[in-house]
Amino acid sequence: MARKTILSGMRPTGRMHVGHLAGVLSNWVKLQYEYECLYEIADWHALTDDPYRSKEIDENVLGMVKDWLAVGIDPSKATIFRQSYVPEHAELHLMFSMLVSVPRLLRNPTFKEKLAELRKKKGYTRLAFKMGELDVEKELEGALNFLRSENPAKALRMLQSLISRTKSEVLDRITTETVLDETAIPPEISYGFLGYPVLQAADILLYKGEVVPIGEDQLPHLELTREIARDFNRHYAPIFPVPEPLLTETPRILGTDGRKMSKSYDNAIFLSDPPEVIEKKVKSSITDPMKVRLKDPGRPEICPIFQMHRVFNREEAPVIEEACRAGELGCVACKKRLAEVLKEKLAPIRDRAASYSDDEVSEVIREGSRRAKERAIRTMEEVRGAVFGS
Ligand code: SF4
Repeated sequence: MARKTILSGMRPTGRMHVGHLAGVLSNWVKLQYEYECLYEIADWHALTDDPYRSKEIDENVLGMVKDWLAVGIDPSKATIFRQSYVPEHAELHLMFSMLVSVPRLLRNPTFKEKLAELRKKKGYTRLAFKMGELDVEKELEGALNFLRSENPAKALRMLQSLISRTKSEVLDRITTETVLDETAIPPEISYGFLGYPVLQAADILLYKGEVVPIGEDQLPHLELTREIARDFNRHYAPIFPVPEPLLTETPRILGTDGRKMSKSYDNAIFLSDPPEVIEKKVKSSITDPMKVRLKDPGRPEICPIFQMHRVFNREEAPVIEEACRAGELGCVACKKRLAEVLKEKLAPIRDRAASYSDDEVSEVIREGSRRAKERAIRTMEEVRGAVFGS
């Protein structure tokens, strides 16, 4: 039986970090043995929210693909290709853009999130909200206690952690509660950014992708692709499969400052970090700000260190969780153990990544793009035939 086709991709943001490994790359490695996988270097997508960063893209592509290969993605099993090397993506995107209304795109969750972020930055939105799960009063009281006991460094760390968690709470609220007002769209939102989910639909359907690995929170993104496929099939010809989501487990890995792990926040542990850097980053990571002394009971559920134990140190994680809650484990020892685990896990990946030359990686991308283009040409012949009869 023919294997189903999977399309998945990533923007070329450069070297991969442990969040990518846990959330995407480990799944990609498994999927390549079960499906016909196409893994896209989404370089046009990288320009949709910052069109002037094109100069850094080449270097980012090489760094990213070295890490893909190093974690075990095998170019003889999965097709690794670069989106802009296959211009048929742009042609299908143009065709699909006629099928999608502007109000539909304005309802896209990522667009609303970005809009909320920009509006907030520019003071477009004033919000009244409750702080949800966050016990602000209790945390402020904790910080005050440190000030009283003349430990300003710890008080400062508590306040920084509180501020960063408050920020994400605020953003969540804006995203879910703000009513969209088209008149307040800031000029930073480009036509390309608004239409990026249509480009995403073209990426998937150009290869007749039947399955798309996503987390539950990304289901609305796939819905637009499904709508476009149905619409095209109904009005022109039944060319496209309606892709199904493959719900994958995407463990949440927080950065060393408690925010989402991201290169742009400067809070990531990279797969290519040498041992001393891993150790330094783990050591400086925030933990539960309420756990000050070894005997204080901790809250592993809000601790970035514990989240990494849960993913990369599965066997010991239950014991660590219990000991943390019971006040039997201190953060220093807990971090030390995590640093050991990460150093051991990342060493072979780092060595493999360093063994690939730029030329070897470029060749892998060129060959994958050539294979992808063959498929893309076939699909576009069908599309042109269905739309224009030629
Ligand atoms: S003991 Fe470990 S899990 Fe608990 S708060 Fe400290 S670092 Fe986090």
